[in-house]
Amino acid sequence: MLSPDFKPTPYWWEGLPPPTDRTVPPARADVAVIGGGFTGLSAALTLARAGRQTVVFDAGDIGHGASSRNAGAVTRMLHTGFAHMAEKMDRAQFGALTKEAADAFDAVRNLIANEKIDCDWRMSGRFLAAASRAHAHNLRVEMDFMQNFSGVQCRWLDASDQAQEYGVRKGAGGVVVDGTATLHPGKLAHHMAARVAMADAVLAPRCRVLSIARGNSGFSLTHELGKTEVRDVVIATNGYADGLVPHFRRRVLPVQATMMATEPVPPDMLKRAIPNGRMVIDSRRAWRYLRASPDGTRLLFGSLSGYRDDDMKRMARKLHAEMTDSLPEFVGVRISHCWGGMLGLSFDRIPHLGIHDGMHYALAMNGTGVPMGTHLGRKIALRLLGSSEGRTAYDDLPFQIRPTYTGNPWFVPWIARWWKFRDRFDS
Ligand SMILES: Cc1cc2nc3c(=O)[nH]c(=O)nc-3n(C[C@H](O)[C@H](O)[C@H](O)COP(=O)(O)OP(=O)(O)OC[C@H]3O[C@@H](n4cnc5c(N)ncnc54)[C@H](O)[C@@H]3O)c2cc1C
Repeated sequence: MLSPDFKPTPYWWEGLPPPTDRTVPPARADVAVIGGGFTGLSAALTLARAGRQTVVFDAGDIGHGASSRNAGAVTRMLHTGFAHMAEKMDRAQFGALTKEAADAFDAVRNLIANEKIDCDWRMSGRFLAAASRAHAHNLRVEMDFMQNFSGVQCRWLDASDQAQEYGVRKGAGGVVVDGTATLHPGKLAHHMAARVAMADAVLAPRCRVLSIARGNSGFSLTHELGKTEVRDVVIATNGYADGLVPHFRRRVLPVQATMMATEPVPPDMLKRAIPNGRMVIDSRRAWRYLRASPDGTRLLFGSLSGYRDDDMKRMARKLHAEMTDSLPEFVGVRISHCWGGMLGLSFDRIPHLGIHDGMHYALAMNGTGVPMGTHLGRKIALRLLGSSEGRTAYDDLPFQIRPTYTGNPWFVPWIARWWKFRDRFDS
């Protein structure tokens, strides 16, 4: 089931220019942004354009974290369900958080338009597929919230009509959502990095920050290529946080999600799977999501694996089984790429930004970092610059811990397995 030239790297990296060379970061700068994904790049762009000497550090290549590994879905909502949120908070706060999530969509759309970024932006909408009758009931409740709070148009599709949107083997209906988009995340990350470099910020790929010491007038960073003194620090490491700031270790849960790309398939086959080319998100606990590649030739399919497995051939076989469970017609289709990436989840499933120990942070994008990371990265930079425009509904919300979680997510794979097991028995 693997194509002869199978690659264990993201499909999104195909055709992009090779990563830039390593640069020795300067000994002094105004701001160090740690993490070169959408969040860090967006912060760096705002800071550099405001005249701050900015260095973006990334342990890997710039943008090679989750930002160029995701499905490229641009939502107007948060990952956590509306009903779940509405239960837990007062109406005003709920309204503000959901409005800001919709603003994040507009922010990324405006950025792409204003910067003239070619990243295959498409107002594809999405289909939220109910994996069972119980899920269908919950999705109908969500649908009302979505329409009222996110400015999207929704309509319910019964199981009998589901093939109009998603040619799944066994469907229980779902919600057609207009007003959301898809894009090519690799291109977006690449072009954002180029804009940051053009704004005279220094990009420091393959330069992990090893420690941060706070002094009287700023911070001293020790990294793989020496030391850099800065006045301010922005932490944007999301699911790739490595314990650099122990405070976040207990607050951001790293969880692996995996994706694969098929070889090109006949157009009518893809059309039967996703007739209107929408992003499809299945309501399973362990998620399943699929879309067509921007050139409309391949199916891109992903799910939540939970555990970190670097054997991408093994992961591809597992994903292939999940894909054909949903779409049996794809049984003979081979896989050309399979890759994993780390999500950063918080216990309340909403993003967080604020200041800890003098350092600014925007973390826990909870699987919505394409819009939220881009939006909140800019906001945290504005806050650092002292602008009132930096205010958000997410500022300084309590960043919860769980007494039993000390920073080792050993249980995540077991939860993912448990979810997959339960998903099999939903009806
Ligand atoms: C398979 C998959 C599918 C997804 N699908 C979607 C989707 O469709 N839509 C959506 O909105 N979101 C999706 N997401 C989530 C989305 O990709 C993330 O929320 C988003 O990319 C987070 O961006 P970020 O900049 O905060 O973090 P990242 O892009 O993960 O960047 C963090 C960076 O920090 C660096 N770093 C960590 N520690 C250090 C250190 N000590 N020194 C220097 N650098 C360090 C890492 O190398 C990494 O590059 C998906 C994620 C995955 C994995």
